[in-house]
Amino acid sequence: RLEIRNLVRRFEGRRVVDDVSLTIQPGHVTCLLGPSGCGKSTTLRMIAGVDMQDEGEIHVDGTLICDTVFRIPPERRQIGLMFQDFALFPHLSVGDNVAFGLKGSKAEKRKRAGELLERVGLSHYIDEFPHQLSGGEQQRVALARALAPRPKIMLMDEPFSGLDNRLRDGIRDETLALLKEEGASVLLVTHEPEEAMRMADEIALMRDGRIVQRGAPYNIYNNPADKAAVAFFSDIN
Ligand code: ATP
Ligand code: MG
Repeated sequence: RLEIRNLVRRFEGRRVVDDVSLTIQPGHVTCLLGPSGCGKSTTLRMIAGVDMQDEGEIHVDGTLICDTVFRIPPERRQIGLMFQDFALFPHLSVGDNVAFGLKGSKAEKRKRAGELLERVGLSHYIDEFPHQLSGGEQQRVALARALAPRPKIMLMDEPFSGLDNRLRDGIRDETLALLKEEGASVLLVTHEPEEAMRMADEIALMRDGRIVQRGAPYNIYNNPADKAAVAFFSDIN
């Protein structure tokens, strides 16, 4: 369970993330949804540990991982990351890309990589190199890589935005199935209401650095908190 309490991040005196609190239950997908510039990526970066908050705390399963003085480094947080620029390592094979963050013997790492690649339908590419794969295939490899170390928490920042529409629906559904199977708590950032409606168990609507509304997708959709939320949802059909 991921819990963030009263996170604040200031840039040049402006509160870009302004007192954000959120709890994400195991096995749940929470979408942080909001317009460009509202502070979504900044929030995710603090949880990942690559940026540090000015105020607030982050807890995982009841254990403090970061406040303003204490900080567990990113690589020890058991948090998986998948960002828009998911770049695979070009000089490593697909299998070695997926095995990259794993511990254990070579054979064990290859076995786990093989399992994940099987799951995303790409086990036949294990010894190929990233440039031999399409964009959508590379994205699935990136997903396999992010899940290989069995992270308890998965942070995804617009992970599907590089894909064309035709590929996107399939990969979203596949990703969702895989994340549920692995039992991870997922925080997915998107500025597309439609994506949040499709993926989320719960939506946290963000604007100007604040969470303005939280709830199940259809509750938020049917009952937006204010005019700005109505306008934001109005481009879904
Ligand atoms: P998008 O949907 O466009 O990715 P976002 O919600 O992820 O937007 P952030 O990247 O979190 O938005 O940025 C929020 C605000 O903070 C923006 O106004 C941005 O210019 C500002 N900001 C982010 N990082 C920095 C930084 N390192 N220095 C100064 N300002 C920053
Ligand atoms: Mg962003």
